[in-house]
This record gives sequence, structure tokens and C-alpha cells, in this order.
Amino acid sequence: MPEGDSIFRAARTLNQALAGKVVVRFESMLPLLNRVHEDHPLTGRTIDSVKSVGKHLLMQFSGGLTLRTHMRMSGSWHIYRPGEPWQRPRRDMRIVLATSDFEAVGFNIPVAELIRDSRVASEMSRAVGPDLLDEVFDAGEALHRLRAQATSEIGDALLNQRAMAGVGNVYKSETLFSARINPFIRVEQLTDDQLADIIETARKLLRVNVTAASAPLTTYIGLRRTTGRDGPDERLWVYGRARRPCRRCGTAIQVRKQGRDARLTYWCETCQPS
Ligand SMILES: [Zn+2]
Repeated sequence: MPEGDSIFRAARTLNQALAGKVVVRFESMLPLLNRVHEDHPLTGRTIDSVKSVGKHLLMQFSGGLTLRTHMRMSGSWHIYRPGEPWQRPRRDMRIVLATSDFEAVGFNIPVAELIRDSRVASEMSRAVGPDLLDEVFDAGEALHRLRAQATSEIGDALLNQRAMAGVGNVYKSETLFSARINPFIRVEQLTDDQLADIIETARKLLRVNVTAASAPLTTYIGLRRTTGRDGPDERLWVYGRARRPCRRCGTAIQVRKQGRDARLTYWCETCQPS
């Protein structure tokens, strides 16, 4: 699952290319979108903005319509100049939005809907907790929503986007290592100070990665897992480093499946004792 920071960067790149431009062509393989488009055509509308809320990508059009997409594990948005060959086969195409100078193509997007602007805020506040990348991030509300998952293990609770939006599987492990918290400790066993520190650490990690350079406009916008690594794995402390020595203490890094979705969790049992 892509991390919040990669969705944020993708939204920023799409916004740079599309905002203020008029849709000249819309195409989709998704019947639900086509049905709305038939009654309320997107062509001729201006794209007001593209932004991310947690891992949701919201494209706002003039006339009060918003296209909400969610990438889950498989989806990605690419942006091309007109006529430029796509880097994915046409059969993977789900949505095309073309302006006079760019073509945004959504590949393998599993969740997409066109909704009225008035519904966006209420749907989003139900679906996602405070967004770690939001300028006005509400840490108190995030803490409150994490607390509500008292019996969840913290490694699992961090992935729950309803509590706090933006942390994917990579930052889950990295955040807990940095905060020196064992991923299998239940939320109810943590103090408010520990939870606040975890939240602050996650926010710092995500923000570092969005201030890094954004993708060039005409190239592939990867929405797949990225940690904003410029080089090899040099910037990761534990993620993907099973059995290799901890960068802090030398103990072999552990890995184990965690939670209902059996996502891999990496940790150092010396730095993050249970
Ligand atoms: Zn260690």
C-alpha cells in the first residue's frame, strides 16, 4: 500500500499539471463513473484542484463534482504529454482525463467515485482520521482516535487510516523503531506521552519525504510503495532488513506478520523491547 507521502506528492504533481485546465476528454472503464459522466459530463469542466486526504486522491471539478480515487495496492496515476506512449498496457487503464496539454491516466485503480462536493467532507471525515501531512494536523484528535483502538497492537493501529491518515507499512516499522516502541504492544499499554511521541515521529518522517523533490511532470508518478529513497536502502532503519544488523545496536532485525491483513512488521528486539 502506498504511503501517505507518495500520494501527497502524486497529488501535488497532478495539481501542477491539471489545475485550472479544462477537461477535453474523459474516458473510463468503470461503469459507475460512466453513469455519472453521462448525466453530468466532465468534459468542459475546469479542474479546480487535485489534493490528497490520507491515501485518497481528490480531483475537484467546477460545478461541484469531485473524483475520489484510492490506489490500495495496485493503482497508480501517470501523467503524459498528448501522444506520448503509456508505460502500462491499455487493458490496465481505468480512467483518462485529458486537458489540452496533459493526459492523466489512472491504471488499475480499484476505488473510484464521482461525488458532490458537499458529500466529500463528511465522507472523508468518516473514512480517514487526521492527515499527518495536513498543515493543520490535529495531534490531539489522532491520539484520541488511536486510544479508541485500545486492544489493537500499535503496529496494527498505525495502519488504521480512520485513526490517523498517512502511515503505510514502511513508515509503520520505521516510526516505531525511531520511537523505540515494540510493534506488538497494545495501545492500552502505552502512555499518552508515548503515543504523542509516535504520532510526532510519524509526522516528521512523512514530512521529510514530501519536502524532497517532486517528480518531474512528464514522467511516471509512482504510487506504489516508495519511501522517497534517492539511493538504495540507506535511509531505512529496519524495513526490509530482516536478519541484517540493527544500525543502532547490531542485533539482527526481526520480521513477523502482524494484524488481520498479515502485513510484515520489522523491528529490533533490543532497541524496541516488549
Ligand atoms: Zn537495535
